[in-house]
Amino acid sequence: PALHNLWVRGARLGSRLVLVIVEDRGEAWRLDAMRRDFIANVSHELKTPVSAVSLLSEALIQASDDPEMVVHFAGRLTRESARLANLTSDIIRLSSAQVSAPALTDDPVAVSHLCERVAEEHRTVAEQRHIAMVWGDTADLWVAGDIDSLVVALGNLVSNALNYSPDGSHVGIGAHRVGAHIEIAVTDQGVGIPAEDIDRIFERFYRVDQARSRGTGGTGLGLSIVKNTVQGHGGDVRVWSQPGSGSTFTIVLPAYQEPQPPTGTVPQ
Ligand code: ADP
Repeated sequence: PALHNLWVRGARLGSRLVLVIVEDRGEAWRLDAMRRDFIANVSHELKTPVSAVSLLSEALIQASDDPEMVVHFAGRLTRESARLANLTSDIIRLSSAQVSAPALTDDPVAVSHLCERVAEEHRTVAEQRHIAMVWGDTADLWVAGDIDSLVVALGNLVSNALNYSPDGSHVGIGAHRVGAHIEIAVTDQGVGIPAEDIDRIFERFYRVDQARSRGTGGTGLGLSIVKNTVQGHGGDVRVWSQPGSGSTFTIVLPAYQEPQPPTGTVPQ
């Protein structure tokens, strides 16, 4: 351990006996710093929509005689409240994922079922934006895990693919087996991610383009949730991107292994 992480305590146990405890507090301090950082970020992120909601409500009251302005402020109020709701649910999801990470189940999950649920949730937005979602063949692919949190994780990738792509483009979702793993890839033809940002996009609240992310209702937490969930399942997430051409995010999950009947002879 690094010298500056060592925490030394001592106690005298008798006239000639001294107990010295040297503890490596590096991990504890790191977690503490992360927690403080998270709270500072959350407070900062919440301030903007909360004060927008309060300002817009006041504006709405003052504009009550002007039907056009009422519609305008009510629309903005609805959008800011939706952002606040997204942010709160992402924060809750992320903190509960971190507190109780190993509590996930490892039920068999059919990748086709996972994809159907995600497709259902994003169909309307894709249709409105004329983005064709192209789903590959997922028959006979099974992963082990918790379907609800996997729907959120894959859903976040699909939602980003839609958010950061132009109208009329294509988003492809495909899966295949590689050895003991299942890889599920989401490919878009969107803005892409500059090389200098790619290592940071999984950090909480990190955005390449603040304005664009906020404009699409993004919270900056989507990819942290994906990473947390997938790693909690014993898997990982990879990204490839080319600014101007598009991105591919790949979730790698352990394939579901059928419980094997015991082999060998049973001792009599
Ligand atoms: P957000 O809510 O801002 O989308 P995320 O954690 O999901 O937050 O993503 C972090 C940042 O990574 C985004 O703000 C965006 O800049 C970038 N990003 C994520 N997915 C894509 C994508 N498919 N194409 C381009 N940029 C992306």
